[in-house]
Amino acid sequence: MGELAYKRVLLKLSGEALAGEKGFGIDTSMVLEIAKSVKTIMEMGVEVAIVVGGGNIFRGRSGENMDRTTADHMGMLATVINALALQTSLENIDVVTRVQTAIEMKEIAEPYIRRRAMRHLEKGRVVIFGAGSGNPYFSTDTAAALRAAEVDADVILLAKKVDGVYDCDPVTNPNAVKFDKLTYLDVLNRDLKVMDSTATSLCKDNKIPIIVFSLENPNNIIKVINGENIGTIVE
Ligand code: UDP
Repeated sequence: MGELAYKRVLLKLSGEALAGEKGFGIDTSMVLEIAKSVKTIMEMGVEVAIVVGGGNIFRGRSGENMDRTTADHMGMLATVINALALQTSLENIDVVTRVQTAIEMKEIAEPYIRRRAMRHLEKGRVVIFGAGSGNPYFSTDTAAALRAAEVDADVILLAKKVDGVYDCDPVTNPNAVKFDKLTYLDVLNRDLKVMDSTATSLCKDNKIPIIVFSLENPNNIIKVINGENIGTIVE
């Protein structure tokens, strides 16, 4: 087996990815497919940390007539529900996992402790980070950039609904052009919808490459690890 391009990865799963075709809530068969791909890359020798979103259940900005902080707290709690769903699916196929949350809920999961997370990764456990960064006014993309920097991940695998970064929305514009490669500054200056600017800046400052790809086929996680150019790389 050749050298692995990435030894430690931070996989960012949007909440939508867990909803599958349903578009809302949790599609357990979809979560299981994702879990199987994670197991495969673990078996290839990759250490995997996961940040999971919450948009399939609740997003801060959808909280009408609600103060932003409360809505964001609800969004962060949604990510914990997803983290537990993912943990269950991984453990059902014998992958050892730990959930760590940025907001303490000790009866449910470990609190986020960086050194402990690093130790889990070294021991071959998947660490799932729930509750985003623990702060309102942030996104789980920013939490992914933060945790990737903290645990010294080699890359962020940004699993989306679309198969890469386009110059405009490919859903509404059939002439949209996909990029194979971009710089962080391209993303920021052209306001491309990859990650929000806070997350992109954090990756830029800490030189963490981002690979954007689609989870339409959960096997894409394996393809990315095998070095196939299936999405867009931002570096
Ligand atoms: N959130 C937050 N702080 C964080 C991360 C998330 O307040 O550090 C809240 C925010 O309301 C967000 C929601 O949690 O809308 C769910 O996360 P996100 O929208 O990033 O999930 P995704 O779009 O990836 O499913």
